[in-house]
Amino acid sequence: MIPYGRQAISEEDIQAVTSVLRSDWITQGPTIPRFEQAVASYCGAPYSVAVSSATAALHLACLALGVGPTDRVWTTPNTFVASANCALYCNATVDFVDIDPTTANMGVQALAKKLQDAEPRGGLPTVVIPVHFSGEPCNMIEIAKLAGRYGFRIIEDASHAIGAKYPNGVVGDCRYSDITVFSFHPVKIITTGEGGGLTTQLPGLARKLALLRTHGITRDSAELTVGAHGAWYYEQLMLGFNYRITDLQAALGISQLSRIEEFIARRHLLASRYDAALQGLPVRLLHRSSLNRSALHLYVVYVSADRRRQVFDQLRELGIGVNVHYIPVHLQPYYRRLGFREGDFPAAEQHYHEAISLPLYPSLTESEQDQVIAALKEVLQ
Ligand SMILES: *Cc1c(COP(=O)(O)O)cnc(C)c1O
Repeated sequence: MIPYGRQAISEEDIQAVTSVLRSDWITQGPTIPRFEQAVASYCGAPYSVAVSSATAALHLACLALGVGPTDRVWTTPNTFVASANCALYCNATVDFVDIDPTTANMGVQALAKKLQDAEPRGGLPTVVIPVHFSGEPCNMIEIAKLAGRYGFRIIEDASHAIGAKYPNGVVGDCRYSDITVFSFHPVKIITTGEGGGLTTQLPGLARKLALLRTHGITRDSAELTVGAHGAWYYEQLMLGFNYRITDLQAALGISQLSRIEEFIARRHLLASRYDAALQGLPVRLLHRSSLNRSALHLYVVYVSADRRRQVFDQLRELGIGVNVHYIPVHLQPYYRRLGFREGDFPAAEQHYHEAISLPLYPSLTESEQDQVIAALKEVLQ
């Protein structure tokens, strides 16, 4: 089976990990800050914190922004459940903003309308979490304008989008947000096995994220509440977690990040080959803006809703490991129990009924891709 996504591990990656295994520190050592520094400098953000997953990163981002039981957090229904669950971990209320069908990202007009309706009812969100679906950046300029007007904070869920670019910046530079979150799961753009990262421009947030990652504990004398004490001494200042990444993973991350431009260029080459080969077939493609650079985590095609199941099953039978991104979060049984229903976010639901993600990853060969294209042609004709 040709999968829809997979990691690209080199000999250098393996050597980087084994050299940490032979060193004194396999966790809480010097490779973690080196990885954080590499992510910060790649994104052009002053601060970066590495954690055990993007799910952990989203949780910490909400906590660092003070999200609690009286807060409302809005995200997109077209995402992995973690983008919404992070708010529920903080006992906040979650709601969704429907997507723009051209990009499948959170719709700016839908957001503007929902904010306008919420304001007189006192129902404005504290935090909005746009997700750069498939690696294509959301319209952050407009979302940031709305944040200025309505006073919410922004966490970018860039799990698909390390290496993506906005019209005048790099995803993760946080010029339009308080915090950006990345995932380093093996299907994503670069991997650390499991792993996640955060970037921010705000030193206070960076410090809080670093504390919350490790139980809320500090040994930094500038932060301790008492003066003279022994070298054993530490203090827990807030309720944190063990959301640490390991040095083994950080070594893999550094090595992977050094090849990110190569990975993204390869994704673009393969995507252009799909674009050309699918012309004339009864499929609709997602829009990629020429003002952005997508990281191209996913290559989504839309087929008519009444044929999607059959097309999907036949492709799987032909050995093509297609997938569907995403089942709208609000339709998950857990979210239905919170009161969400079919019809609440029609554009995300329509997207779900028509979308198929084709295989796309740097080590996909052109002949494997030709197999995917031939299978799709066979199934659609
Ligand atoms: C993968 C993903 C996550 C979760 O990432 P983990 O690192 O597996 O926790 C969150 N949000 C989105 C949009 C994702 O694709």
